[in-house]
Amino acid sequence: MSKAYTGGCACGAVRYEITAEPVFSNDCQCRDCQRESGTGHQSHLTFPREGVTLTGEGRPWDMVADSGGVKTRNFCPHCGLSVFLTFADMPDIVAIRAATLDDPSRFAPTFVTYADRAHEWDRVDPALTAFAKMPPGPQ
Ligand SMILES: [Zn+2]
Ligand SMILES: [Zn+2]
Repeated sequence: MSKAYTGGCACGAVRYEITAEPVFSNDCQCRDCQRESGTGHQSHLTFPREGVTLTGEGRPWDMVADSGGVKTRNFCPHCGLSVFLTFADMPDIVAIRAATLDDPSRFAPTFVTYADRAHEWDRVDPALTAFAKMPPGPQ
């Protein structure tokens, strides 16, 4: 196995160490990711939950996703940065925001989600497969 994925919030109160490889890595152009990032998309790495060790405690905030499912954003209570996401319908996975990695160059997106929400001014890699919403099938 490769080196653990480590990272966390801006102030260091919420940290993670992940000893698994991502299930998938994507750029997401949904409205929630746009609002939260303040720009056209967010980038996520999704891991099996059992490989994720957290230090500190994220403050959870539940929201209804574009898909209709409930997703929980977990914020650092000190610096306010959203570090990871969990999903009510998919308890076995955790999505980490790519830029929270200590080494963000390890993010290697393989597809784009919610491309139907994309803005003209937000360009992602045109070589990536772009799904109008989520990819078909279970995540
Ligand atoms: Zn923090
Ligand atoms: Zn999104």
